Amino acid sequence: MSVDIAVENENLKNKLNAYEEIIKKHEIDSLTELYSRQKFFSEIRRTLDADSDKRFIFMRFDIDHFQLINSFFGLEEGDKLLQYLAFKMRQFSLILPSCILGRIEGDIFGLCCQLNVSLNILQAMMQQNIQSFVGGYRADYELRIIIGIYPIEDNSMAVESIYSKAVLASKKCKESATGGYFAFYDESMSETIVKNQRITNQMNVALKENQFEVVLQPKCHLQTGKLIGAEALVRWKHPENGYLPPSEFIPVFEKNGFISKLDEYVWDKACAYIRSWIDSGLDLVPVSVNVSRYDLRNQSLPSKFAQMLDKYGIPAKYLHLEITESAYMEDAQVIIQEVQRLKDIGLHIEMDDFGTAYSSLNMLNEMPIDTLKLDMSFIRNYEKSPGKDVILSFVVKLANALNLGVIAEGIETKEQAAYLFSLGCSTGQGYYFSKPISKQDFDIFAVQSAAVISA
Ligand code: C2E
Ligand code: CA
Ligand code: CA
Repeated sequence: MSVDIAVENENLKNKLNAYEEIIKKHEIDSLTELYSRQKFFSEIRRTLDADSDKRFIFMRFDIDHFQLINSFFGLEEGDKLLQYLAFKMRQFSLILPSCILGRIEGDIFGLCCQLNVSLNILQAMMQQNIQSFVGGYRADYELRIIIGIYPIEDNSMAVESIYSKAVLASKKCKESATGGYFAFYDESMSETIVKNQRITNQMNVALKENQFEVVLQPKCHLQTGKLIGAEALVRWKHPENGYLPPSEFIPVFEKNGFISKLDEYVWDKACAYIRSWIDSGLDLVPVSVNVSRYDLRNQSLPSKFAQMLDKYGIPAKYLHLEITESAYMEDAQVIIQEVQRLKDIGLHIEMDDFGTAYSSLNMLNEMPIDTLKLDMSFIRNYEKSPGKDVILSFVVKLANALNLGVIAEGIETKEQAAYLFSLGCSTGQGYYFSKPISKQDFDIFAVQSAAVISA
């Protein structure tokens, strides 16, 4: 009998151990040994409740271009980098009171601690410490950590809501032209939500009343400045608020689906512009239009383009499609098939914003694309840390080796144009050549650049 009890006890103990092991696995991230998301959030909840009279702050960390680093240097290096970041965060946490750390997912980490200094002092501390986070990790690439910070105003707030505010702050960091490493959440970020609703209420009327205008930005040869193409970009001539940039409304339209209607309008206008050049007997350059990932869900997209080309009587080669790199990542095989169907009708495909998403470099040669359009962050990063341009020069070489065209975005100076040309990239787009301009001004630009030759 006692033997039975002993055996039963032993079994129970084993079960408990196994159970504890399972819980631990769920609670602790095995790569970094930090709390995983759920445990991290529940620890924050517990701490905020226990110290409801103290002030806390939440920080969200992520590594810029992490997926590119992963595919360029390999998964092992990617893992090493995540461990390095976790190590640095642990070090940083030593100087912070009641600090909780966690790995939220992928390259996203979180930190929550008591705030016992003023925000100004915290800002200065961050400025000082940021260098130790990134400095000297590897000499051959620029490591950029993005930090979104939310000083928690009300300790009873749901942790998910606290996290979303830090996400909004991170977004501001990524969008900032100077490429800030960290940003604090501010109320205007939530006001955006109200503003977006207003945009949704007005969009249909705006389309009907021709408030959307399609401008053109020249694409030029980097050495000669000769015009080689144009990108069609939309502007909203709002009756009360003046010209609105696409960053104010495109993300809203991508969420509510209106983007498909607007894009079709822009494509139609671009075709009409091409037609007007043919009618005036001028030599032509191709016009690139943006195709949102949401447009690609429409099975009849190829026939829509075919009809449009037919309606205006223009050869397919004069219409280029810019499809953002991230569009290929969601449902890669389906998107690749859809893009292939567009390519099959003779449209030229450019992979836009290349370098910002999750492209696996070794998949590039299987993708139905003609040109890589390098995101402007490449040139910005290079300027900040000259010498750390191994990825940029590699990407240009790779594009050349795969017989893909390559065009650089965001060229603002003569030096940048010359530098990219020296790497083997011969075309570019950017304020150095021209800002996006009206169709009327573009016609003048084209004549001046001597690219438009009488037929
Ligand atoms: P994008 O397709 O990457 O377009 C390039 C953006 O970079 C344009 O901003 C352009 O004005 C800006 N840019 C060009 N050269 C320079 C430069 O030298 N320096 C700097 N700092 N910026 C430069 P824009 O027109 O504000 O458009 C922003 C984004 O909005 C576009 O990024 C694109 O994703 C989206 N977008 C614009 N028009 C359309 C459209 O008709 N349909 C769709 N789906 N998206 C559009
Ligand atoms: Ca584009
Ligand atoms: Ca782009």
